[in-house]
Amino acid sequence: MATYSINLKDGSIERPGEIIVGIDLGTTNSLVALIKDGKPVCVRDQDGRSSLVPSIIHFAEDQSVLVGGAAREKLVTDPSRTIFSVKRLMGKSYLDVAGHTQFFGYKIIDDDTESLVKIRVDDKFYTPIELSALILRELKQRVENELNTTVSKAVITVPAYFNDNQRQATRDAGKLAGLDVLRIVNEPTAAALAYNPSEAGTIAVYDLGGGTFDISILQIQDGIYEVLSTNGDTFLGGDDFDQVIILKWLSDLGLQQSSLEENKEFSQQIRLEAEKAKKTLSGADTYSCVLNGQLLQISRQQFDELIKPLVNRTLACCANAVKDAGIDIKDIKTVVMAGGSTRVPLVKHSVSAFFGQPVFDSIDPDEVVALGAAIQADVLAGNQQDVLLLDITPLSLGIETVGGLMDVIIPRNSKVPSKAGRQYTTSVDGQKNLKIAVYQGERDLVEHNRKLGEFILRDIPAMPAGLPKIDIQFILNADGILTVRARELRSGLETQVEIRPTYGITEEQMALMLLDSIQNAQTDMAARGLLEARNEAQNLILSGEKFLKQHDSILSQEEKDTTSAMIASLRQIAAGTDKDAIHKQIEALNEYTTPLAHRAMDVTIGSAMKGQRIAE
Ligand code: AMP
Repeated sequence: MATYSINLKDGSIERPGEIIVGIDLGTTNSLVALIKDGKPVCVRDQDGRSSLVPSIIHFAEDQSVLVGGAAREKLVTDPSRTIFSVKRLMGKSYLDVAGHTQFFGYKIIDDDTESLVKIRVDDKFYTPIELSALILRELKQRVENELNTTVSKAVITVPAYFNDNQRQATRDAGKLAGLDVLRIVNEPTAAALAYNPSEAGTIAVYDLGGGTFDISILQIQDGIYEVLSTNGDTFLGGDDFDQVIILKWLSDLGLQQSSLEENKEFSQQIRLEAEKAKKTLSGADTYSCVLNGQLLQISRQQFDELIKPLVNRTLACCANAVKDAGIDIKDIKTVVMAGGSTRVPLVKHSVSAFFGQPVFDSIDPDEVVALGAAIQADVLAGNQQDVLLLDITPLSLGIETVGGLMDVIIPRNSKVPSKAGRQYTTSVDGQKNLKIAVYQGERDLVEHNRKLGEFILRDIPAMPAGLPKIDIQFILNADGILTVRARELRSGLETQVEIRPTYGITEEQMALMLLDSIQNAQTDMAARGLLEARNEAQNLILSGEKFLKQHDSILSQEEKDTTSAMIASLRQIAAGTDKDAIHKQIEALNEYTTPLAHRAMDVTIGSAMKGQRIAE
């Protein structure tokens, strides 16, 4: 709670400097930082040793939850209930991560849809947002313990390559943790703020973390940080270095990769050993250990050979970023290193060779992003007037036009905040409604890009095709979040939406839950989970009923009865408040009806081939 004081001389109300913290919500570790005596510092644990909070959560059988270092210890002993690398799942649908699930030791729910992934622990289901909120709450507590006061405002960093869904998900996680997220800042931009150069010039920030890689080129002049270009890879980081060591060791042991699937405990043990080997090799020439009675070894030279293709991939991104920035590589004055994986000597040497200069690595690469976030927080608190961030959007934003083509409205590398628009018209006489589907990506066909959402401009007055003038405006705010406005200029008809991710939970629902969360965080999380479960149940009930009607002739009486009974039961359970029971029944219904749906599809295809018309 903020305290206000009244100045008795003139009756004015004084508000003490508000505390806004900077948070680096990382794949592997998370940190919280703030400004102390004019300087950014990371908040350390109670022993004053580490500023890192491992981004790991453990759910015990007795319902208790551990976050951070204590949860890390459970990775080996209790892998199926220990969640790591949640950031890789933020804002992602199951289809997005389908090829990567073997990497996680815990269960990711495969409902084969475009809805947001969920993680299952025993009989409970969690979204990546809920899980990230737990990490954020731990950070909030850490800083509150240090300051002995409540903290409710934050700046949170995300990889520059995070799309709209992922940014929204991060913002939502902040809200669930009881934090008002004042700004989402790109990690490389935050790192540049922490570097704080004494002279103007162009710098590159090379940020290689646990799961993601980002490169940004910025121009700094008179306190203005202008991002010229950004590039990266959302599936490339230190975890991949660990992975190549694991694969080498498995091959040394004569084991198949499937042995990791079969034995989760062994999988975690070898993963932790591989990470240890990698870190040791940052300062030593060889590493060896004994796992399950067998000797595992790797030399720095072997490690370098194995990761070389991965490091080269980062350099290809750097080359693109330099090209996009429209500068000569020689113009870059400093290369700032961020992210724990830049401690790997081959990374440092390769980056330094690529840019033709020694890299700047004197700020702790684990802390540099959080320190920058704290500086940005301080700017927002009004304490630093001489710094201005001009960020850019890393991916193009546009709409679908005839033939499934992507029509770019805001090209990638445009400054944010920004606003752009274009005029369209109708293609059919008397067309009343116009669907506006918004996409993000660089490909020409929208099917290869990511759909952010769609909405309909309704009740356009009847006019011949080509006559209506429909103005579509894209408004991108400083967080990189998009609002789209469509207006028919002849009639003045207007509609506007903030593009929310497909898992969509409305701002009002979120506000209601936030109210609760301040009083009772646990209930708040449950409320959100329940809402989502009910939405999902409702969709399944509707599609299940439609399925029964459409395929009546090919289902046996028993199949019809069972499906109807399961739908009725789902409806009843969804009216209750047990979200896990709802998910369980959704799973059961899906499981039962999937073979029926396959059969229905076969029959439909069969009759289509016979030349019959298929009834809708
Ligand atoms: P971040 O996401 O920035 O916290 O980076 C974490 C990544 O840095 C993880 O993959 C760590 O294994 C890796 N890392 C941390 N310390 C070292 C080190 N000394 N040598 C190599 N990699 C490291």
